[in-house]
Amino acid sequence: MNSDLRILIALQDLDQKIATFHKQIVEIPNRVQALQSELEGLHQHHQDRIARSQELAKRRRASEGEVELMRSKLSRLKDQLMAVKTNKEYTVMLHEIQTGEDQIRAEEDKILDVMEQGEILDQEIKLSDKEVATRSKELEQTIRELETSVPRMELKVAEFQAERALIEDRVRSELLERYRRIAAARKGIALAEASGELCSACHVRIRPQVYAELRRSETIFHCDSCDRILFLRDV
Ligand SMILES: [Zn+2]
Repeated sequence: MNSDLRILIALQDLDQKIATFHKQIVEIPNRVQALQSELEGLHQHHQDRIARSQELAKRRRASEGEVELMRSKLSRLKDQLMAVKTNKEYTVMLHEIQTGEDQIRAEEDKILDVMEQGEILDQEIKLSDKEVATRSKELEQTIRELETSVPRMELKVAEFQAERALIEDRVRSELLERYRRIAAARKGIALAEASGELCSACHVRIRPQVYAELRRSETIFHCDSCDRILFLRDV
């Protein structure tokens, strides 16, 4: 293989590694933000449930207070019933007692309903307590890992770039220019392996004559279709 080509392959290899790290580094803030949103959502949902449970307990206490009041009112009415003089008064008061008892029953039904809801909710909170804690820990851990991976990757990129500079110095400037031009036009990939008589990048057939020349000569050939520099892997 042409020795320039060998160097270009090493250069492309480094360029790809650098590009991969760059892509990861750029994506990290978004990934961290998504994880943080999930974490906040998790806590918010948990807090909302706790608040709802407290609200139910408050409603229950209020209803119980209400029942208490109505009971003492009823007991007063029942005492007064004994002292009533006329039939009409008696009927009115009896009706009032009846209404009061109905109200108490309705309020007690409400209390039962609220108690039932509260019990279900408290059970859910108890179960999700552990889940929330575990998931939070996982999320926090992943966030920390992602954040600490950035400086590590940046260091790696710097190393690759230093290595790359050394390699570039060994390539003829005309060829390096060609490499850069094609890489810029072809999503960073300037070289393509010729494999099974096809360009492995664009999958267009390579002319048999070119393919034969690739095996024999030191000349540098380009793919007729995508213009990338072709190379054959040593076997
Ligand atoms: Zn091609």
